[in-house]
Amino acid sequence: IRMFGTVQDITERKRIEEELRHSRKVIEIIDRLRERFISHIDPFLMYAALLDDLLALTDSRYGLVGEVLKDPDGALYLKTYALSNLAWNEETSRLYEDYRYKGFEFRRLNNLFGRVITTGVPVLSNDPAHDPRRRGLPEGHPPITAFLGIPVFVGDRLVGEIGLANREGGYSNEILEGIAPVVAACGQVIVARQEREARQRAEDRLAQQANLDGLMGIPNRRRFDDYLAQEWRRAGRARMPLSLIMLDIDHFKPYNDQYGHLAGDDCLVQIGQLLQNCLRRPADLAARYGGEELACILPETGNGGAMQVAREIRRRLGELAIPHAASPVAARVTLSMGVATLIPEGNGSPAELIALADRRLYQAKAEGRDRIVGDPPTGE
Ligand code: GH3
Ligand code: MG
Ligand code: MG
Repeated sequence: IRMFGTVQDITERKRIEEELRHSRKVIEIIDRLRERFISHIDPFLMYAALLDDLLALTDSRYGLVGEVLKDPDGALYLKTYALSNLAWNEETSRLYEDYRYKGFEFRRLNNLFGRVITTGVPVLSNDPAHDPRRRGLPEGHPPITAFLGIPVFVGDRLVGEIGLANREGGYSNEILEGIAPVVAACGQVIVARQEREARQRAEDRLAQQANLDGLMGIPNRRRFDDYLAQEWRRAGRARMPLSLIMLDIDHFKPYNDQYGHLAGDDCLVQIGQLLQNCLRRPADLAARYGGEELACILPETGNGGAMQVAREIRRRLGELAIPHAASPVAARVTLSMGVATLIPEGNGSPAELIALADRRLYQAKAEGRDRIVGDPPTGE
């Protein structure tokens, strides 16, 4: 009886197969990260998913993914967007849940994961308990048996950190090299995400500014038109009255001539603030209609209520007593107001309400200024 056979060393083949499998996983992880970023998924969820992927890839138990940010004084700190739950009692559990979607900010960096940021080089420790770089753990903290902290660079800028811990058998430089492409992709996402956030903030600010008057700091004509159209439709649907007060400063041209345009501007600012202070309901809106003309939109307000608001404006302006020596009406700045109220009809438009308030404003002017004209008395 004989047996023939050949013996072949397949170590190399197995190694290559293993490397191939690993590379595929790395590519998948990067793909998923990119996809989540592009689809605007919440950063906390995006980084948490990345951390899960990294923990699985490296057989790690715990980990963190964070962005390295700068305080106004230039000090670096770590904001973790994903952090394994290490809570060991009720208090730390509560803390974890509170901050999970706000992020933890670490400013004390005299520990293993902090060292990654202070030095900018990876920290690999397979015996953290006896590592001099460590500063001990709070009492009750689950033991850390192995730690790998990786700085995330984009160019020479440190933008983040990835921390992995408690891999059975510890970490090695091969593991570090094996996840380098994921670390690089993470850096790109961090930078792109921060830029996107900054752009969004700038856009929001611009959008807000586009609705405000540059001088008076209150809503401008564009906002007035939009809001009036919106409230007109709403009032029509709800069969509710909508009121509008149109206001015009009396003899403002002589005011400018007397005190100068800068003083005129200042007067406008004061009156704009006064108007805003007189409006009580969140839905009320005071706007600069143009020049020294102002307007108040009062949703769900009848003519009686609107007249009350107008009288309050007039009363407070009297208290403010801005001197106006050139006014034939009074020794101080005064306003004329037209108050109109309509329940919008299907075929009507906000222009009706403006025209009505405007007519009454000019009636107030004609009757001597410093007065309010609203609905004529019904005789009831
Ligand atoms: P009345 O309304 O009582 O009939 O007289 P008036 O002098 O106020 O007349 P009118 O409303 O026609 O004049 C508007 C004046 O408001 C003209 C302009 O000098 C002044 N004005 C308009 N916008 C501004 C502004 O932004 N700053 C300053 N300082 N003045 C402005
Ligand atoms: Mg005017
Ligand atoms: Mg005027």
